[in-house]
Amino acid sequence: MEILVDMHCHSVASGHAYSTIQEMAREASKKGMEMIAITDHGVGMEGAPHIWHFGNIKTVPEEIDGVKILKGVEANIMDMNGSIDMPEEYLEKLDWVIASFHDVCVSPGTVEQHTHAWIKAIENPYVDAIGHSGNPVFCYDFDKVLKAVKAHNKLVEINNHSFTARVGSEVNCKIIARKCKELGVKIVVNSDAHISFDVGKFDKVYKLLKEIDFPEELIINTSAQKLLNHLELRKRSRGL
Ligand SMILES: [Zn+2]
Ligand SMILES: [Zn+2]
Repeated sequence: MEILVDMHCHSVASGHAYSTIQEMAREASKKGMEMIAITDHGVGMEGAPHIWHFGNIKTVPEEIDGVKILKGVEANIMDMNGSIDMPEEYLEKLDWVIASFHDVCVSPGTVEQHTHAWIKAIENPYVDAIGHSGNPVFCYDFDKVLKAVKAHNKLVEINNHSFTARVGSEVNCKIIARKCKELGVKIVVNSDAHISFDVGKFDKVYKLLKEIDFPEELIINTSAQKLLNHLELRKRSRGL
């Protein structure tokens, strides 16, 4: 199995990442990838881009070096009601929205609070996927949240970067992936690259998915066409 799309990449605009969009695309092209999504942090994080970054992102070509470029955001969940830090009029113009918890944006609460916040974020019509939810700092009720993801035809991200950046994620990611397999919840495998060299780096997730014999049909970013079909169907279902 090969995954030819990376839907979580940060450019220099995130403030703590080190490559331009052009450099990210060039690396993706070198690795034979079909598509990447640029997902700089939402405006609620220290050092994140100004909102105008998202307003003007249409300037970026739809394809660079033969790689399709989707324009997205990794929005920050800012409270236990699942509010995110991006205005709707910007979200509706983006191709792809991940919602994630970061402890620099919101202090961790209880399992019940995280569960509630995730469900609220999933109910947000603009949110496509929940980001690096294996982070043990923001533990939640896996069954409740994954069922909500399925009910709303959203995606659960399995994030390669989490295995080193967010200690304890590996164990949780395995539980989450197993439950996704059981419940038939679709996933998206992402690098969360903060430098071009890491684009398309899924080694740790590949290993995990192999270990649990995860079904390929539930991995939505094996090809650009599969991912785009999913987005198209979901957007049509919400009348956009
Ligand atoms: Zn993140
Ligand atoms: Zn990220």
